[in-house]
Amino acid sequence: MNHVPKIIQIKEADNVAVAVEDLAAGVLVRPGLATRDPIPQAHKVALADIPAGSAIVRYGVVLGYAKADIPAGSWINEHMLKLPESPSLADLPYATNLVPREQLPEPTRTTWMGYRNAQGPAGTRNLLGIVTTVQCAAGVVRMAVERIRRELLPKYPHVDGVTAVTHPYGCGVAIHAPEAEIPIRAVTNVIRHPNFGGEIMVVGLGCEKLTYDMVLPPEDNTPENVLTLQDYAGHDAMMQAILDMADRKLQKLEQRRREELPLNQLLIGMQCGGSDAFSGITANPSAGYAADMLVRGGATVMFSEVTEVRDGVPLLAARCVDREPRDRLAEEMRWYDDYLAEGGVDRDANPTPGNKKGGLANIVEKAMGSIAKSGTSPIVQVLSPAEKPTRHGLIYAATPASDFVCGPSQVASGIGLQVFMTGRGTPYGLEICPVIKVCSRKEMKEHWFDLIDISAGEVATGEKTIAQVGTEIFEWILAVASGEKQTYSDQYGFHNDLCFFNPAPIT
Ligand code: CA
Repeated sequence: MNHVPKIIQIKEADNVAVAVEDLAAGVLVRPGLATRDPIPQAHKVALADIPAGSAIVRYGVVLGYAKADIPAGSWINEHMLKLPESPSLADLPYATNLVPREQLPEPTRTTWMGYRNAQGPAGTRNLLGIVTTVQCAAGVVRMAVERIRRELLPKYPHVDGVTAVTHPYGCGVAIHAPEAEIPIRAVTNVIRHPNFGGEIMVVGLGCEKLTYDMVLPPEDNTPENVLTLQDYAGHDAMMQAILDMADRKLQKLEQRRREELPLNQLLIGMQCGGSDAFSGITANPSAGYAADMLVRGGATVMFSEVTEVRDGVPLLAARCVDREPRDRLAEEMRWYDDYLAEGGVDRDANPTPGNKKGGLANIVEKAMGSIAKSGTSPIVQVLSPAEKPTRHGLIYAATPASDFVCGPSQVASGIGLQVFMTGRGTPYGLEICPVIKVCSRKEMKEHWFDLIDISAGEVATGEKTIAQVGTEIFEWILAVASGEKQTYSDQYGFHNDLCFFNPAPIT
């Protein structure tokens, strides 16, 4: 296919471009420019001579400074750049780049089929969620859930499943430490996840620090909703008590039905993981296009991952609708800067060996690709980890970038579905809500043809536009949320553990 470009340059100011495929040395990549070294796919090639100390520019931003002279045509790897300072958090702009709603792409579908809730977003699934207050109860609850699946669920054809919401929190922790509010809020909010339909079932051990009254209001902290393992005489009695409570909850969940709902009843999350240098060209901008369609249609879209937006903060601040989310954004960034500093690292601790192999030189390059998944909509609200949104539109929800910590945090915030962009590939999934996986390269989709749901790689080869893949992602989101389509991770039951973020001390 001779129309396929050999390299992709993003902005005119860029002095590097990314190789679309593995390139040998001596390949003419554009008139007058040949590669000096072999360039691995997704890695950067210098478009001009870059003298030592001068800026290496991609996405129109400075990724870093050349440690030595880099002649045009050279491969630029992660060892050749010095990281710039992270952008200042003082005097950030706000409301200087607000794209009007009518300029966002129009949704191709304006309703979906969901489970309406008394308050908050609708459910995408009808699940019984059994939430533990402490890790000590996890083994019992997991076994009970296996029995519920076998012995009770066949009686309730309108219930999609039952899930053991287990996590590492609950005891042996400094429960009154200021930062303990984060994991406590996560447990509190996950009990009320939209996919659980308001049916509360909480199982504790009996001597843990995280007590029921810390996660439930008095009217819900009742024997109908909570069960304490230490109250029961032995294995059979405690199992039977869990099964009996589950049976009562399942009878209520069985009454629920999907109904046609407007998009403003939908809350979805965006995340990326195992990114490569194509993520920011193909998968993330396509997801951003889908996010813009959702926002235009009235839905709420959440994006996260503090270390992966830190270098793009001025761009995000300019998209904040007013001073309040701008200030909250700066606060969340500052908190995380301090959190990393206490651990003796900075934001550059983020990129993984896989990211680097995928051509991402450092966290600046990763961040510029990562924020593309937020599209172009104005940011209406900024949340702390595991908080629930109170507004519709695009939300920045601060979470760690770690895939298996960001996901549970967004779940606690109430997402009914997550869209996950990957370059290197991950089987990642969540049991509480479906995860649609979008890969950045065609080769990834060919390699993991039955693990990745959507390929955005055709954007790099010019076979599809961002708008086409973005529309495809949008339509997948509504189909999966409506229960019309199943993701690969749900087909196989590939579901990650819920690692709630706990920045507070463990005792
Ligand atoms: Ca991630």
